[in-house]
Amino acid sequence: MVGLDIDGVVADFLSPFLLRLETRIGKGPIPADSLTSVDFSAHPALTEETVEDCAEAVRRDPRFWAGLDSLLSPEQWQRLERLNRRGQLSFITHRTGHESWDIHAVTTEWFRRHGITSPDVHLVEKEKSAVVERLGVVLFVDDNYENCREVAEKTGARVLMPHHPYNRSFSHPGVTRITHFNEVFAQFKSCRPPAAVS
Ligand SMILES: [Mg+2]
Repeated sequence: MVGLDIDGVVADFLSPFLLRLETRIGKGPIPADSLTSVDFSAHPALTEETVEDCAEAVRRDPRFWAGLDSLLSPEQWQRLERLNRRGQLSFITHRTGHESWDIHAVTTEWFRRHGITSPDVHLVEKEKSAVVERLGVVLFVDDNYENCREVAEKTGARVLMPHHPYNRSFSHPGVTRITHFNEVFAQFKSCRPPAAVS
């Protein structure tokens, strides 16, 4: 089983979120490479309050999530769908919505638009490691280094972290940084035990 985070792995959360922050602050562009942490802390133009206000605004806005761009190519979605059909794909996310709408439904519909039939989406409130263990995930992919560290230290899963400016200074012996999503498929092939000879 492959366990994928969604935002920052297959969906581009950051670009539209930065646009919202820029609009709110009104001082011009905030380049993605100016971010040095996954929670946007220690940024000269951003306060914790501004970030939290924007985060709260998007939690209340289903159109924000429905409209996110994909980070993958059509071919990569097809390869994911092949894993999905074999029951080898789960999505494990910390996304939280709002009581006024159904984030699971919006997320599922977004995957369907990219060709993933009946996606297995897990909305996790706390640590991801418990879900990783329960699902039997052998390969876990997340852009948030805190999640990567936690899963690497608490489970036997192999952990991959797609490179982003906000995670560039993180390193951990149990976490492998990747620069191309196809490395997920290559790593999963090498995770699986050889097929039984019948
Ligand atoms: Mg993420």
